[in-house]
Amino acid sequence: MKSDIELIDSNGKRLDGRGPEDLRPIKIEAGVLHRADGSCYLEWGGNKVLVAVYGPREAIPRHSQNPLRAIVNAKYNMAAFSVEDRKRPGPDRRSREISKVISEALEKVILTEQFPRAAIDVNIEVLDAEAGTRCAGLTAAGVALADAGIPMTDIPVSCAAGKIDGHVVADLGKEEDNFGDADLPVAISPRTDEVILLQMDGHLTLDEFNKAFDLAVNGCHVVSEIQKKAILDKYQSASEAE
Ligand code: UDP
Repeated sequence: MKSDIELIDSNGKRLDGRGPEDLRPIKIEAGVLHRADGSCYLEWGGNKVLVAVYGPREAIPRHSQNPLRAIVNAKYNMAAFSVEDRKRPGPDRRSREISKVISEALEKVILTEQFPRAAIDVNIEVLDAEAGTRCAGLTAAGVALADAGIPMTDIPVSCAAGKIDGHVVADLGKEEDNFGDADLPVAISPRTDEVILLQMDGHLTLDEFNKAFDLAVNGCHVVSEIQKKAILDKYQSASEAE
């Protein structure tokens, strides 16, 4: 949707004062829930996301079991109160799509073949939404899986980039998502830069796409450091308490 709002000024400053490559502030805490096998609470700009991991456990119903590997059930849920206009509770087309792409992304890094016939549940609850919730949810899921001790090749991480008023920028905020020209959420395995999720909403030229993709991957590496610190902090404070 186009608007009369100027999303970026002639000095390259965005509505919230960020430069084109800057991310919104991010806070991550691992192990916030006591009954889940692993958990994470994440704030990213105005987004607030809680993730709980349960499993690996025997997959039920039995016909859902894969004899060769675990199945990964990521379930993304946007709370009714998380958005400006109350969202109708329960799954819809959008949340099913996001659950599917996040499940597929997580399957790329989890060593699922170590747990035949098992299921790993990843519950992603969006409590406050301000654009970029799938990236926030996947990033928090990576930390919660690590907290659960699920073997992975890497901690998956996600960040978006996009285009506003003709400029390619990292990590779109709410107005930028609503009134911008394109949004490109990306998730990677940061050790190898293997892409595990890539979606695009809107239009980009090939040059713009390449620029946005590079910005998103750079953003992923910034967020990856915050993920690692959150996990270290949890285990450092746990060992100090012993
Ligand atoms: N949104 C909303 N109501 C909805 C779905 C989305 O207000 O039913 C808002 C919410 O702030 C969300 C943003 O629109 O973060 C962008 O949604 P999108 O589908 O692009 O996914 P996201 O960027 O959150 O991954």
